[in-house]
Amino acid sequence: MINRRKFVGALGVGAAAGALAGCGREEGGPAVKGAVSGKVHKWIMVTTWPKNFAGLGEGAEYLARIIHDMSGGRLQIKVIGAGELVPALQVFDAVASGTAQMGHGASYYWKGKLPMAPFFSAVPFGLNAQEMNSWLLRGGGLELWRELYAPYGLIPEVAGNTGVQMAGWFNKEIRSMADIQGLKMRIPGLGGEVLQRAGGVPVLIPGGEVFTALETNTIDAAEWVGPYNDLAFGLYKAARYYYYPGWHEPGTTLEALINEQAYNELEPDLQQILTHACRAANADMLADFTARNNAALKTLIEEHRVEVKKLPDDVLRRFAEISEQVVAEQIQGDALAQRIYDSYRQFRTQVRAWDRVSEQPFYAARDL
Ligand code: CA
Repeated sequence: MINRRKFVGALGVGAAAGALAGCGREEGGPAVKGAVSGKVHKWIMVTTWPKNFAGLGEGAEYLARIIHDMSGGRLQIKVIGAGELVPALQVFDAVASGTAQMGHGASYYWKGKLPMAPFFSAVPFGLNAQEMNSWLLRGGGLELWRELYAPYGLIPEVAGNTGVQMAGWFNKEIRSMADIQGLKMRIPGLGGEVLQRAGGVPVLIPGGEVFTALETNTIDAAEWVGPYNDLAFGLYKAARYYYYPGWHEPGTTLEALINEQAYNELEPDLQQILTHACRAANADMLADFTARNNAALKTLIEEHRVEVKKLPDDVLRRFAEISEQVVAEQIQGDALAQRIYDSYRQFRTQVRAWDRVSEQPFYAARDL
């Protein structure tokens, strides 16, 4: 290792990239052929977040920065915020068409086009952050994800994770399922469908309008992300109770979308840098969220006197039952959908059995 560092230092950045790419061979990966060229690639990354948006937009900037630095400036990526070039919800199409070479977002935004897409970001009562990484990177998930996006000329890669989210902000106390009846709540995606079947009224409101809708009682409740993002939005000023756990988003994976043609035009070492920078950004965002959520929760409780409450078990149990149905209904008669569902389900079953003798009893033991 020391020798490699010396070797890298002596030869400079371009050679360093080649030397690092060669490391793949030690792990049994494909050898990277060809000398490093000095060609500079200039890409655009469109995002579903406003520029430099707390945690998420910052994650996109971090990714672009480390790609620049690792490639010695040979792959330069300009990050563009939502609405600047294309609206947030057109990021998928913009990268597929080549308007941008790259995108940063979350796969559940593409549910209208691809009903199975949410499996690669968050599913109610699904996998947490650690488990999502394990399923995607070592459990066959990423291969299925690539298969799902391949017809659009897109390559997906993990590029961030928020960790488990909060159930949301409520102006009404939730004591039983009776309190869910008619509850108007901002909760998108599959979680919203679950709420609707449970008797609530899901409302679709973009992030920027959540505060006002809650403050003016247009809605009774809203989920956003977790303490760090919610504190930044000032949601504690608009609602009294802060409920947990985030049953609907147990560990949301963010994605990098890469235009396949643009990817194929990169030198092999840049392809490796791009892939592994996404994975480094994936780990970094979870670290960032965990550290900042810790601090923000303390601020919310101690400075803003927020009442933090757990959703009652009977409500969570009912949501879980409905979630099983809603999730199963996403398979719409296509073989790939069935394979994605089966892979996800099998992984969840196995990891739950392992969690019962590992993570869960450890957390309980630590809190004794
Ligand atoms: Ca959320």
